[in-house]
Amino acid sequence: MSSILEKLPEVRGKYTENASLGEKGWFRCGGKAEVLFKPADVGDLQHFLKNCPSDVPVQVFGALSNSIIRDGGLKGVTIRLNRSFADIKADGETVTAGALALDANVARMAAEAGIGGLEFLSGIPGTIGGALKMNAGCYGTEINDVLVEATLLDRQGNRLTVTPADLDMTYRHTNIGDDMIVVSATFKGTSEDARIVKARIEEIKTRREESQPIREKTGGSTFANPSATEIAQAGLPEGTKVWQLIDSVGGRGLTIGGAQMSEKHCNFMINTGDATAADLEALGEEIRARVLEKHGIALRWEIRRIGEANE
Ligand SMILES: Cc1cc2nc3c(=O)[nH]c(=O)nc-3n(C[C@H](O)[C@H](O)[C@H](O)COP(=O)(O)OP(=O)(O)OC[C@H]3O[C@@H](n4cnc5c(N)ncnc54)[C@H](O)[C@@H]3O)c2cc1C
Repeated sequence: MSSILEKLPEVRGKYTENASLGEKGWFRCGGKAEVLFKPADVGDLQHFLKNCPSDVPVQVFGALSNSIIRDGGLKGVTIRLNRSFADIKADGETVTAGALALDANVARMAAEAGIGGLEFLSGIPGTIGGALKMNAGCYGTEINDVLVEATLLDRQGNRLTVTPADLDMTYRHTNIGDDMIVVSATFKGTSEDARIVKARIEEIKTRREESQPIREKTGGSTFANPSATEIAQAGLPEGTKVWQLIDSVGGRGLTIGGAQMSEKHCNFMINTGDATAADLEALGEEIRARVLEKHGIALRWEIRRIGEANE
C-alpha cells in the first residue's frame, strides 16, 4: 500500500505516521493523525507548505483545548509546532509571542514586564495560535481587543502580516482558514504596576477554579452564547446565556456513554473516563436538538470537531 509520505517533501523536521492526536488533547480521546509533522522551524514549515501537493489536506493544532478529533482520525498532514514557535518578548507596552506560546505564559510575562490588559489570557488554557483562530476571550476581553498584528503562513507558504481589521474578528470567530497557520502575534496592553497585574491574574485563577471544571478532561465552553437577536426572537429575557438554555432542557449532568455535560458548569462537556469522540459529539448534538425544539435556537458549536467518524 502506498504511503502519503511518498508525496511529501523532504524536511528538516520530523514526520510520524499514524500518530496519536486526540489522546494528546484536553479530552484525552479521539483519533490519530495520518501523518504528524513537526517542523524544525518556520523556514522548514514554509518549505513544506511550498512543496506539499495541494491535494494533501493540511491542518495545525495548538494545545487541543478546544478540539474534538473524531475517532477515525485526521487525513493528510497535521502540524504540531515545536518550541521554536513558543518565544515571548515584551517591549514597551507590547508583547510578541510565537503561536505555540501558552496564553497563560503570555499573561505572566506581560505582568512581569508591567503590562496590563493581557491578564484575561491567563484564563484560557490554549496557545496563541488557537486563541487567534478562535478570537478567544474571557471576563469581558477578547483577542480582538488587544491584537496589533499577526504573522500567518498561507497554504502555499507565503508569509502574511495581518491586523485585526483583516481577520473579521467577532465573538469566537475569525476568517482564518483551516489551512492557514498562525506563526506569531503582537499584542498591546498598558503600562501598569506589575503587582496589580499579577493580583488580577490571581483573581482570574480563583474565579475559574470556583466556576469551571478545569481539572477535568474538557474542551471549555461547548457552545457559543446565542446572539441578542436570537435570544429576543426566542422570547427569552435579554442576556440569557447558553448555560441557561442547556439547563432548561435538562442538560446539566446529561450523559451519553462516557461523555457528560458538567454538573459544575453545564456548558462544559467532560470525558468521565472512557468517552469516545463519538460520545462527545452525540451528547452535544442531543443538547442542540433539545434547545432547538424548546427555544427554536440552533446552538453554534464553539468546540472544533474535525476528522473522520469511525464506521
Ligand atoms: C478548562 C478550559 C477552559 C477554557 N476557557 C476558555 C475561555 O474562557 N475562553 C475561551 O475563549 N476559550 C476557552 N477555552 C477553549 C480553548 O482553550 C480556546 O479556544 C483556545 O484558544 C484554544 O487554543 P488551542 O491552542 O488549544 O487550540 P486547539 O484546540 O489546538 O485548536 C483550536 C482551533 O485553532 C486552530 N489553531 C490552533 N493553532 C493554530 C495555529 N498556530 N494557526 C492556525 N490555527 C491554529 C486549530 O486548527 C483549531 O481550528 C477553554 C478550554 C478549556 C479546556
